[in-house]
Amino acid sequence: MNKLAIVWFRRDLRLSDNPALRAAIDGDFEAIVPVFIHAPDELGQWAPGGAQRVWLHESLTALDDSLKALGSRLIVRCGPTDEALDRLIEESGATAVFWNRLYDPQIIARDKKIKKSLGDRGLQVESFKAHLLYEPWTVETKQGGPYKVFTPYWKSLRDRPIVNPLPRPASLPAVWSRIESEAIADLGLLPQVRWDEGIHERWTPGEDGAHERLEAFLRDAATHYDRDRDYPAVAGTSYLSPHLHWGEIGPVQIMHRAEEWLADQSDPAARKHIERFQSEIGWREFAHHVLFHFPETPEKPLDRRFEAFPWAEDMEALERWQHGRTGIPMVDAGMRELWATGYMHNRVRMTVASFLTKNLRIQWQAGERWFWDTLVDADLANNTMGWQWAAGCGADAAPFFRIFNPARQGERFDAEGDYVRRWIPELANLDGKHIHQPWAAPAQALEDAGVRPGETYPRPIVDLKASRREALEAFDQIKK
Ligand SMILES: Cc1cc2nc3c(=O)[nH]c(=O)nc-3n(C[C@H](O)[C@H](O)[C@H](O)COP(=O)(O)OP(=O)(O)OC[C@H]3O[C@@H](n4cnc5c(N)ncnc54)[C@H](O)[C@@H]3O)c2cc1C
Repeated sequence: MNKLAIVWFRRDLRLSDNPALRAAIDGDFEAIVPVFIHAPDELGQWAPGGAQRVWLHESLTALDDSLKALGSRLIVRCGPTDEALDRLIEESGATAVFWNRLYDPQIIARDKKIKKSLGDRGLQVESFKAHLLYEPWTVETKQGGPYKVFTPYWKSLRDRPIVNPLPRPASLPAVWSRIESEAIADLGLLPQVRWDEGIHERWTPGEDGAHERLEAFLRDAATHYDRDRDYPAVAGTSYLSPHLHWGEIGPVQIMHRAEEWLADQSDPAARKHIERFQSEIGWREFAHHVLFHFPETPEKPLDRRFEAFPWAEDMEALERWQHGRTGIPMVDAGMRELWATGYMHNRVRMTVASFLTKNLRIQWQAGERWFWDTLVDADLANNTMGWQWAAGCGADAAPFFRIFNPARQGERFDAEGDYVRRWIPELANLDGKHIHQPWAAPAQALEDAGVRPGETYPRPIVDLKASRREALEAFDQIKK
């Protein structure tokens, strides 16, 4: 029998379908130490933002509870990671360290060093695939090299069989009492001035919460997904993104469960909806593929022409965008939803990102950073791809000249104005016909609704038509 294995939990905060944990269980070790090492400094500017930290606090607590229910517990340590692991190995006499791989460039660099150093000292060190369906380096175009366009990427993968997820362990060996742990509460993940009630109200972080979300989606929304996914006032999507980011559920589990669900459906239309949902999981894979092959993209545009784009420096406009005070209802509703709940609907993310980068011509990295700090699902791969897509400078991006009109987006995807009314109470009494363009509403309609432009709700920060034209002129300067 082997001595002791460390399972290093990172963004794989689950017990089921966890290959690193499974390797420790199957390795016939006398003891297993599950550890989480808090080392935000090692992630530089991409250390978890405020909303992510709140989530992490809850998710670690949930993982610790689940481990305790199996007879184990979570050991929490603080970085530097290499030193924390060394100390734990010394204290426990561990002979093996297992973890699941992540793909953020700074994490890859750190993990490589740790793997080499532990391996050189004779430890058994193994890492596993748990965060993705396909390793980014195993997928390439016919000509060789990475994909830069989603459709052929996903076409090459979507029919591959999905493996069965690994089962949740029934029990785990106890962790010796002499192995000490920091208290999760002492990591300082929760804000001192509490702004996070909305996050706690809306979400249930942790593995159980993730599975409840998936089941609720399959029960209530999956049969309409392809129809409803674009309407922000409708609960038409899965809301799995933060659970996926923290690995409380894995993509293999989701794809597998989706197939099981499909097998039980009698309506042939169910296939179209679930395949659309699965292709969104495909976008997540694609985002990780692009990040792995182009690790500079969180900071630099993939399309290098955009390095010369004449961005505007306008702090005041940026702040008004951040706080939902632009005077464009669809944009302001999205930014307020984000601030209140740590989430924003995908259609609205595209709209606010287009507005920032095109109508305000503010650099996409400023929006990326704000999302990083405020989204509970902030994810280096998906956020980078989303922003570069919206700005027109990324892989398979929307062409720059396709500029979303946020008022038109509202009229199409929030026709009755329910989403705007939910987040902008100042406009609650304005009818659906005028709610997306209050600046064009007749004075009487505004008066009846109690809206006083410039007083109760801001006038638009820019003219949508003029700013669109200016953005196209700016683009003319870099397109060759
Ligand atoms: C500017 C911008 C920034 C974004 N930042 C992030 C981010 O930081 N983190 C994040 O997870 N997603 C991001 N997205 C993608 C997308 O908006 C969210 O994944 C989605 O809204 C999450 O809601 P859901 O789980 O209900 O999605 P569903 O529609 O239920 O999709 C299921 C899952 O597929 C994945 N997915 C869906 N759409 C995309 C996409 N366009 N790109 C990559 N993966 C996708 C997510 O993991 C999601 O949970 C961003 C999009 C834009 C336009």
